[in-house]
Amino acid sequence: MSIQVFGLAVSRGVAIGRAVLVASSRVDVAHYFVPVDRLDHEIGRLRDARNAVAVELTALKNELPAEAPHELAALLDVHLMLLHDETLTGATKVWIRERHYNAEWALSAQLEVLARQFDEMEDLYLRERKADVEQVVERLLRALAARPEPAQPPAAVPAPGAPRDFAGEDPLVLVANDVAPADMIQFKRSVFTGFVTDVGGRTSHTAIVARSMDIPAVVGAREASRLIRQDDWVVIDGDAGVVIVNPSPIVLEEYRFRQRQSELERARLDRLRFTPAVTLDGQAVELLANIELPGDAAGVVEAGAVGVGLFRSEFLFMNRGGDLPGEDEQFEAYRDAVIALQGLPVTIRTVDVGADKPIERMSPQELRHEHGLNPALGLRAIRWSLAEPGMFRQQLRALLRASAYGKVRILFPMVAQLGEVRLIFEALARARQQLDEAGRPFGRVEVGAMIEVPAAAVLIDRFLRHFDFVSIGTNDLIQYTLAIDRADEAVAHLYDPWHPAVLQLLNQTISAARALGRDVCVCGEMAGDPAFTELLLAMGLRSFSMHPARISAIKQRVLRADTRSLAHDLPRVLGADDPAQALKSVMGGRGPQ
Ligand code: PEP
Ligand code: MG
Repeated sequence: MSIQVFGLAVSRGVAIGRAVLVASSRVDVAHYFVPVDRLDHEIGRLRDARNAVAVELTALKNELPAEAPHELAALLDVHLMLLHDETLTGATKVWIRERHYNAEWALSAQLEVLARQFDEMEDLYLRERKADVEQVVERLLRALAARPEPAQPPAAVPAPGAPRDFAGEDPLVLVANDVAPADMIQFKRSVFTGFVTDVGGRTSHTAIVARSMDIPAVVGAREASRLIRQDDWVVIDGDAGVVIVNPSPIVLEEYRFRQRQSELERARLDRLRFTPAVTLDGQAVELLANIELPGDAAGVVEAGAVGVGLFRSEFLFMNRGGDLPGEDEQFEAYRDAVIALQGLPVTIRTVDVGADKPIERMSPQELRHEHGLNPALGLRAIRWSLAEPGMFRQQLRALLRASAYGKVRILFPMVAQLGEVRLIFEALARARQQLDEAGRPFGRVEVGAMIEVPAAAVLIDRFLRHFDFVSIGTNDLIQYTLAIDRADEAVAHLYDPWHPAVLQLLNQTISAARALGRDVCVCGEMAGDPAFTELLLAMGLRSFSMHPARISAIKQRVLRADTRSLAHDLPRVLGADDPAQALKSVMGGRGPQ
């Protein structure tokens, strides 16, 4: 039966594929396709893991002390029985053989199937056996991890219509309750062509990574991971925020048609890649790229961006099991990005972690949202860096050293206090001095602040005295101005980039920077949303930073804009209670959709 699930549209386009349900705790399991000639080997890996777990469980049982409660031995027997049960390992083999999943992925897929069957059982005793299956799978995953495969290149998603290298491979979409930003980044080169999560808001970091991957996504689809079953056919409508499960043939055909249309539109926009972004009245506009990893830098120039406006360095700090990248490792990552940009500017933001974007190294105190506190208002971004001065200076030294290889701009996130400005510059001076003493070369860097807290926007003139440039983080500026947690789908309907207060702060920041001759950029999601291009141009913005995939669409808007008439209408738009509607009327229907 076909059903629809509604959520938030966060990344455009249509994806059609089979659902892969992944439990939140297991999204970091490796997902790759196994080529035909390695299938027997992969099944062998699973068999070896099963044998190892059997030995482990038998040894545990044999070594139980005489006084141990007899339920323990019975439990180990249940685990041994589950281990050899066809519905676990036998069915897992089928996932490997027929779908070419690697053993870890196949196990997780089968666990999802079984977990759901257990959840639906009437009998409480049987329902509780789910925990036993989970424990056995956990042991199997650990045994597989002890026999790692050489690093597997994640299988590329075949282009629609391209020949597949094995039968039975359908496009896949990921369905999960939640995916942490650190895990999302693992999916960057993965097999999934779209994804759906139960939780999350429009500018949650998970949604941002989906947009950077340029794959259709719906978040905040509350019931999705309960209603969708492993292997269901799913259509993700990333424009409307709807997920259609097991669509009828007519609906499917309609979506396939839309998919083809958007591919054509994409190809058309692609032709604009290397056209300079200049408005009708001759204003040059700088279109920059947001990236998460140094490896993304190569695609920046290809996408037609003229530099990196935001390198979110915190992703270098994730998925490392608590260890942090040292100065040399960071330096190499920044230097590689700088070299890949061939003289174009690279704006690197210092680490922006917090309980909303955690790294393994954080203590339970730092991850305080588990205790009901709001992570967005806590020890985040520059606050965290200033609380870890050694780590902060290490990052600054790495950034300064990279500046010997090209044009580096250092950007500090979430600056809100003038006192923080003083500490930032002291740390920078100390980092330079340390490099001097060590005889290490470094270049000149420009230093900028992210304006993402209303306090900084209100006092913009004072902040501008200290910085070479500012970059407006609209994702957070909206969150903090409207007191809406950007990751919380329960208040997502109140997260409003068109709110007159937000627009006023934006306008004020852009005007103040221009009046003082400082560069100003917008690097939040608004910059990559064509609905705002004319408005931002009218405010005087000439630098936009966005996911590389958005560059051509924004360029198209720039090429059609006339900033003179827009600037003339700006007061009317900003003064309106409904600025989106006002913009539409002054633009004669060409405004925001
Ligand atoms: C922002 O807040 O707009 C921004 C660009 O930073 P992030 O989304 O990484 O918080
Ligand atoms: Mg931010």
